This record gives sequence, structure tokens and C-alpha cells, in this order.
Amino acid sequence: MKLVFATNNLNKLKELQNLLGEEIELLSLADIHCQDEIPEDHETLEENARQKAKYIFDKYKLNCFADDTGLEIEALNNEPGVYSARYAGEDKDSKANMKKVLLKLKGCENRKSRFRTVISLFIDGKENQFEGIVKGNILEKERGIDGFGYDPIFEPDGYELSFAEMDMKEKNKISHRGLAVQKLVDYLLQLK
Ligand code: IMP
Repeated sequence: MKLVFATNNLNKLKELQNLLGEEIELLSLADIHCQDEIPEDHETLEENARQKAKYIFDKYKLNCFADDTGLEIEALNNEPGVYSARYAGEDKDSKANMKKVLLKLKGCENRKSRFRTVISLFIDGKENQFEGIVKGNILEKERGIDGFGYDPIFEPDGYELSFAEMDMKEKNKISHRGLAVQKLVDYLLQLK
């Protein structure tokens, strides 16, 4: 089976291809010559993931999945959520995003937060969604240099390391994206 992953991130694609084995061939947006700015203009992760996957399915008639992720902070009414990438502005600056979060949480004791990933899969026009969640706390300041996005200020429950201090393999085992992807892989493998 051929399946489009609506992403331009080749690292994400490669990692998943490894998990899926050879019977499912993943294609990137570049592989299907899609250079469109795929819209994602909804207020929830579920709708945005669906919008991206459905866009590809409708336009190319290819089975497809897309993901959307957000950091949800309890004391901020689940902000930044769908706005995680551009919380501090359109240039998607991770440093500025983290600074904004730390400022908003200054003096706030409730640091509870979670990363949530939703994957929307379209096969023959029928949708399935898979969710992955990792709970944790927002640190008082940045720690660690690996990873991306909000990794330096997020410490997952049960660990004394921020995501940016963790080995990537370790992070992928417990992360929101890792858990959602595992559910997707389990589903795809039982279709074969
Ligand atoms: P996307 O939906 O995977 O593009 O994620 C949206 C935004 O959420 C990213 O631009 C990051 O700011 C943040 N984000 C997603 N996943 C992670 C992660 O694993 N660590 C830190 N930040 C993340």
C-alpha cells in the first residue's frame, strides 16, 4: 500500500517508514509534487489534522495522513494549543514562544501541561484519528539544548530531565507524537 504523509519533514517520514516496514510505502508531499500551502485554519488539533489529510485525499485521490500537535498549559486555558508554532508571532520563533510562556506563567504555581498530537488518516475516503498525550510540567527556565520547539521548558512526568535534555530515542518512546504514531502503526499493520 502507498500512503502519503502530509509533511515536508523528511526525518519524521524516515522514522515512520522504519516502523512500518516495506509493505507500506510512505510518500512525502515532495514525492507527489505537492507544493501547496495546505490550509490549517481551524481552532482544534482534530480539525486541522483532518483538514490537511482531507486536502491531499480530495486533490490527489491518494490515501493519506497528517498530524497536528499543540502544547496545552492548564493555567493558560490550554494555550498555546493549536497556536503553538506561532504563539509569539508569525515567524515561528521557538525562543520567543518559550519566553512568552515563561512570562505568562511567572509566579504561577500550577505548571501542569501536556503535549497532544492528533493524527488524521484517510483511507478510501474514511477517516480515523489517533491521539497521543504526554503530561508534564513547565519548568521555571530553559534546560537542555537538544530537540526543538518547547522542549527546553517541558519536563515529562516521572522524569527529572526536560525533553531537551533527553536522548531522542528516549523522548520518542514517551512523547505525544511517538504514542500517536504507535497507534497509527498498529492500525496500519493490522490492515495488511
Ligand atoms: P507540529 O504540528 O508538529 O508542526 O507542531 C506545532 C508546534 O508545536 C511546533 O512548531 C512546536 O512549537 C510545538 N511542538 C510540537 N511537537 C513538539 C515537541 O515534541 N517538542 C517541543 N515542541 C513541540
